[in-house]
Amino acid sequence: MTRCLDCGSERIADQCPTCGLTSAAAEVMFRRRLLKRTAVFLAGSIVFPYACNVYPPLDIDLMLVFFGVIFALALTLAVMLDRRARRRQEIEVLKRIYYGFIPLPWILAATLFVNGKLDSQKNVIYHPTVVESRYYMRGVVRGSRRLFVKGWRLDQRIERLAVDADDFDRFQVGDRVNVGVAPGALGVPWLYGVYRAPDDSMKSSRTQ
Ligand SMILES: [Zn+2]
Repeated sequence: MTRCLDCGSERIADQCPTCGLTSAAAEVMFRRRLLKRTAVFLAGSIVFPYACNVYPPLDIDLMLVFFGVIFALALTLAVMLDRRARRRQEIEVLKRIYYGFIPLPWILAATLFVNGKLDSQKNVIYHPTVVESRYYMRGVVRGSRRLFVKGWRLDQRIERLAVDADDFDRFQVGDRVNVGVAPGALGVPWLYGVYRAPDDSMKSSRTQ
């Protein structure tokens, strides 16, 4: 007994009693759908890193790593599904797991966006700290820039701030800064802004 690749119904003959497709036709239909859903997933995976930069979460790098794991898992599933479908093997369980992955990047991106968008500026808390190092990794589109500052959270020796190009160029190692952190409408703290500490104003007017 096998199941129809397309609709998942049990079938005894080559033709599915529910959707009427032969096993060859069902394979074609299924793989076409797999491709479409994978495209939706890939598009979300391109959007997610951008969404991360709009209202950058404080733990952006942790989230990007977490997302990288999801991405790798999903693509592995897609490859396995395609291979199994070609061999006309059972795919029902894998298919359901994979389809669960498809909206994830979109949901994560929307969560981060809403988290920042609906947040109130009144709740921003400023943490005085010092820039310890800077890090720039070239990327295909815009690269990632980080200011590493002394941490203020428990068990967090360093905070890796995802800053834009302007802020990245503006601050040097040793600069004293105030880091504005918003709590997030959905409870994900995000980087509101990095500002030069007031007593450093002499230095900043010199460098500008
Ligand atoms: Zn069927």
